[in-house]
Amino acid sequence: MRPAASSVWLEALAAVAACVFAGLLAWAVAGPGWGIAAACAGLISLLLMHLLHLARLVRWLSLPVGTTVPAGVGAWEGAFAALHRRARRAAERQLELSVALERFRSAGQALPDGVVVLDGHHDIEWLNATAAGHLGLTLDQDRGSHLTNLVREPEFVRYLEGGQYAEPLVLHPGRNPGLTLALQVVPYGQAQKLLLSRDISQLEKLETMRRDFVANVSHELKTPLTVVSGFLETLLDCLREIPPEEAERYLNLAREQALRMERLIEDLLTLSALETGSLAPAEEKVPLAELLAEVADEARALSAGAHRILLKAPGGGSLLGSRAELQSAFGNLVGNAVRYTPAGGTVEIAWEGGADGGGSFSVKDDGIGIEAQHLPRLTERFYRVDRGRSRESGGTGLGLAIVKHVLTRHQATLEIESQPGSGSCFRIRFPPRRCLPAV
Ligand code: ADP
Repeated sequence: MRPAASSVWLEALAAVAACVFAGLLAWAVAGPGWGIAAACAGLISLLLMHLLHLARLVRWLSLPVGTTVPAGVGAWEGAFAALHRRARRAAERQLELSVALERFRSAGQALPDGVVVLDGHHDIEWLNATAAGHLGLTLDQDRGSHLTNLVREPEFVRYLEGGQYAEPLVLHPGRNPGLTLALQVVPYGQAQKLLLSRDISQLEKLETMRRDFVANVSHELKTPLTVVSGFLETLLDCLREIPPEEAERYLNLAREQALRMERLIEDLLTLSALETGSLAPAEEKVPLAELLAEVADEARALSAGAHRILLKAPGGGSLLGSRAELQSAFGNLVGNAVRYTPAGGTVEIAWEGGADGGGSFSVKDDGIGIEAQHLPRLTERFYRVDRGRSRESGGTGLGLAIVKHVLTRHQATLEIESQPGSGSCFRIRFPPRRCLPAV
């Protein structure tokens, strides 16, 4: 019930009128003294009733929000009921606001990027867990602190205070070595700011790899190209003076360099096809005996009788995958074994079935071997233990990178065991799903 102001006045007037009437009645019955006393008593009790309600109201106001409003009579009853409704609405609204705030906070926490809410003085109001991890902050401890007291890198302080936020700032936080962050300030509201942080370490690593790759490819192509153009220039300048056998030697050397460039480009195209091709390789049934025989023939051709090439092939069975990719991976391992084994050495190519239904292809040589510290990096593009030796033997530095790609696509793994001076064993393990038994 809403207490209308007019009804309050009417009620007050009625109460005063009742007191006056009681006074007049007492006057008429018992004389003027009693009349005045009765009117005063009525008015005093009216005043006491109001004081009592006022005291209840004051007490209620001091109690926590949500406490039931006191009971009242007359106009007070309506006033208390209205207050009760208002208090309940305020409590509901507060609850709604805190639920909405909590929802925003949870959304902020779920963001993959870091978020720091800053006030106009760059003091921290709130931050999510990602930002805490990125910037080495703690919400409970650092709330209210000036951000530049905690993130002190000079370039960050300049960025935050400079006010030019069109471009993000790339920061390597001192507290977190190895981490690269892209920080972007977004002003909003009245001088408030959102600081967004994103971990771009992986992107930066990829960008460095891309730059190194381009530099490596350019370098690998430039060297033979310089040799070829040098020979051609010499031949053009002094074709008449050079004896024919000397000219032929130059041309042969130039052809060797051209072949080297061709091999490099072929390997680059293979790598790029592996990287950009379909996610899964073809699911061909490649007969193992046939595949291994071809790989052994390749090794014999490359060795030209300088090595003993042994083959321990299974009677039957097939591999499930891309024939061309598997041939390229096996061929690279076998080719390396021949190229890094001095003449007279032995290369053993074998297939073994595993107890779990899987199988492994291995190439063992008794060649120059590899020192342990190089093993983890051998599958990186252009990584070579001995640059000169790799080039001499026609290597591009991409063979094992191609092998690794092919194996990843076939869910296979590469194991390398090697002893400098005694030889190496490269083994590819295939999961059972890829190994089909002979039928
Ligand atoms: P490359 O074309 O130089 O042979 P790879 O990627 O095939 O490139 O091999 C990387 C490096 O690994 C080679 O440069 C070589 O130093 C080393 N390596 C690979 N296979 C053998 C092996 N069987 N014996 C000794 N070293 C090897």
